[in-house]
Amino acid sequence: EGRAARAEVRGKDEIGRLAAAFNAMAERRERLEELRKAMVGDVAHELRTPLSNIRGWLEAAQDGLADPDPELVSSLLEEALLLQHVIDDLQDLAVADAGELRVHAEPVDVADLLAQVATAHRGGAETAGVTLLTQADGRLQLVADPVRLRQAVGNLVSNAVRHTPPGGTVRLQARRADGDVAIDVTDTGSGIAPADLPLVFERFWRVEKSRSRRSGGSGLGLPIARKLAEAHGGSLSATSVVGEGSTFTLRLPAHGHAWESSEA
Ligand code: ADP
Repeated sequence: EGRAARAEVRGKDEIGRLAAAFNAMAERRERLEELRKAMVGDVAHELRTPLSNIRGWLEAAQDGLADPDPELVSSLLEEALLLQHVIDDLQDLAVADAGELRVHAEPVDVADLLAQVATAHRGGAETAGVTLLTQADGRLQLVADPVRLRQAVGNLVSNAVRHTPPGGTVRLQARRADGDVAIDVTDTGSGIAPADLPLVFERFWRVEKSRSRRSGGSGLGLPIARKLAEAHGGSLSATSVVGEGSTFTLRLPAHGHAWESSEA
């Protein structure tokens, strides 16, 4: 069902080569179609779970089985925020896939940027019992979109905090790397097995499905951070040691020369 027709490949003549090219195209189309189906299924799942939680709570309240007390209200709010988060992230990825991610370039002081991200995550880190440290050379400058950069680094910090046990440390560090600026987000958390490491950049991929859901991730944080890095002409990579922690490194061209800023 749904498999494309195959041409018979005969020898190395022109017809044979055409048949081989046709078969390669058909296979590629099938792979893309499989990917698309899996993606739609994942999206449906990601949206259904918080929605059915909200519905369950509301039905229980309606039946008088749950009081609409502050605890119920904040559970509902948390699920609604998660829904919003997944939808916003999907929107960002759709825009990036269409090649329409807008970057509004301006001079960015990297030390300021790290301080802003740290401030935004200070509360969450404290609640988790995790120490947040920043370290940056005050003279590091980028030409970049500060909102998009904060979003990318913020996704890395929020992951690092969520995967680090109490008493651990998350360090944000900026350094010069060849002609680039590198921003490292290093944690003393669970770490990621070598086989899993490339997969963490896949959409909706999680090492531990149910636990990550509870802690509020959309499963899209890393794919988005990578797209944002690429939109700046940069890259996102990771190294990790299980039981010791992980480092996610965002590399950006120091002068923003690798891409054009779009106005409007
Ligand atoms: P989310 O965090 O919303 O699940 P991400 O795309 O941000 O989605 O991350 C994908 C997965 O990669 C996470 O579910 C987790 O399994 C793993 N991961 C990401 N960052 C870290 C980290 N700092 N330490 C350990 N595992 C991580």
